[in-house]
Amino acid sequence: MTSEFDYVIVGAGSAGCVLANRLSADRKNSVLLLEAGPRDTNLWIHVPLGYGRLFKEKSVNWMYQTEPEPGLEGRSVFQPRGKVLGGSSSINGLLCVRGQHEDYDRWRQHGNQGWGFDDVLPYFKKAEDQQRGADDFHGAGGPLPVSDLGHPDPLSAAFITAAAEVGLPVNRDFNGASQEGAGFFQTTTRHGRRASTAVAYLRPAKGRGNLRVETSALGQRIVFAGRRAEAIEYRQAGVLKTARARKEILISGGAFNSPQLLQLSGIGPAELLRQHGIEVVLDAPGVGHDLQDHMQVRVVMRCSKPITLNDIVNNPVRKVLTGLQYAAFRTGPLTIAAGTSGAFVKTNPRLATPDVQIHFLPFSTDKMGEKLHSFSGFTASVCQLRPESRGSLRIRSANPAVPPEIRINYLSTEVDRTTNIEGLKMLRKILKAPALRPYVVEEVDPGAKVASDEALLSYCRARGSTIYHPTSTCRMGNDPLAVVDQRLRLRGVEGLRVVDASVMPDLVSGNTNAAVIMIAEKASDMILQDAR
Ligand SMILES: Cc1cc2nc3c(=O)[nH]c(=O)nc-3n(C[C@H](O)[C@H](O)[C@H](O)COP(=O)(O)OP(=O)(O)OC[C@H]3O[C@@H](n4cnc5c(N)ncnc54)[C@H](O)[C@@H]3O)c2cc1C
Repeated sequence: MTSEFDYVIVGAGSAGCVLANRLSADRKNSVLLLEAGPRDTNLWIHVPLGYGRLFKEKSVNWMYQTEPEPGLEGRSVFQPRGKVLGGSSSINGLLCVRGQHEDYDRWRQHGNQGWGFDDVLPYFKKAEDQQRGADDFHGAGGPLPVSDLGHPDPLSAAFITAAAEVGLPVNRDFNGASQEGAGFFQTTTRHGRRASTAVAYLRPAKGRGNLRVETSALGQRIVFAGRRAEAIEYRQAGVLKTARARKEILISGGAFNSPQLLQLSGIGPAELLRQHGIEVVLDAPGVGHDLQDHMQVRVVMRCSKPITLNDIVNNPVRKVLTGLQYAAFRTGPLTIAAGTSGAFVKTNPRLATPDVQIHFLPFSTDKMGEKLHSFSGFTASVCQLRPESRGSLRIRSANPAVPPEIRINYLSTEVDRTTNIEGLKMLRKILKAPALRPYVVEEVDPGAKVASDEALLSYCRARGSTIYHPTSTCRMGNDPLAVVDQRLRLRGVEGLRVVDASVMPDLVSGNTNAAVIMIAEKASDMILQDAR
């Protein structure tokens, strides 16, 4: 069962769908897009608040677990990842935050020419269809709709006022001139529906005869002729198939699956590959190295008024009315993303830019994806934007169906621990400000008795979790552990690129979806240029 294409893309996620659209726009290129998961027919994918239902929906989710995390009392952290057309952009929290200009300038400063903010801004704009129209920082008319919140509730607005009361600027645009301050988030939605990359990029390309999309097709191994990547072996409905690439193979499996596939294919740390009986094509110790993630620590508040989502979900009549409102107008609480308002703050005034992001949500739960509390509640979380902790991803077996070993090493540096403690203190200051007072009964979690730095750190260790932004396992750079070069070509082999969150030199100070889409837009241009 062998077929042949110009380009074979493995993974139809945030990056893979962008590549499939851009590369197949030229009808002379034949493109195969392989996706391990199914089509995006689950209705909850398309309703923004539906992300809560997809957290543990194994038909569209890889549902990874980390190894026991030493910094989190040995807890294993649940790591959802999209396994469906659109990948994680089909199950994510929909927030559109690109990061800071300084993130990309830092990438360039570390030798990644062509990746400074001025270089990447045109690709953010090219992708974007900004509801507010185009300006110096935004594009209009691109495939990816970026919209204002459909349900700006009074609690979320009070959070912004409270932040201003403690001295933060009000910021209308976190993706504009400066990120600092408090404001409402924008989301990747159109008319109250999720805009995954499957919706925004793949659907418009659906009718193209030169693009083939295969779902439930797990890429298992890249086949090499010497050092040239020639083909990909994939399994679909129990049958092993081979797709040959005349021009290139593009790996877009995401920060966990891309390094896994490379290691399974003989590209990775030689000692690890030998341990699993895999023939070494290239000893590349950087593959799976430098895994990073954003951690979040949540504060739960009991609200004095029945205006939270908890109150709606726990009241059958209000629940039905909310469903009807959404069905009729595509507005209301079902359009809520993983944050309504939020803030970017500096935990130390000497910092040049914010080091903590706060997400505010007008509901509360013990764990994300679980039942909402029976009381009126809301949540705000602290997320350190540029963690120093580094982890790793290593295969556990030569069998592609066995999940890899994931270690993040959260809170393994002093800076990471201090930033989380100081972030919680800043958040509490906002939560105590006058604008929120009429809404607050008490802090439920961690609760007023958790006050000292030591107690706050223990809380972070006991309750901290991911905010779902793993990156950098096939890092771009020039040092011996860098996996790809600045054109995202895998160093040491030919005919192979990695294009997804795994190539980020380090984490950006925001939510990672927009940055991945930008990377794929830029990669598409480079791939087409290099083929000339
Ligand atoms: C629950 C959750 C909430 C999030 N919230 C936000 C948010 O609010 N805002 C934001 O900006 N970011 C958010 N993110 C992060 C963001 O969605 C990801 O960073 C981004 O989607 C990653 O894109 P990617 O292309 O690297 O990988 P993915 O989008 O994960 O795509 C990888 C694709 O490859 C497929 N695949 C993997 N291996 C193989 C294989 N061997 N063969 C075939 N197919 C394969 C996968 O099934 C998947 O479809 C969230 C993520 C999650 C999981």
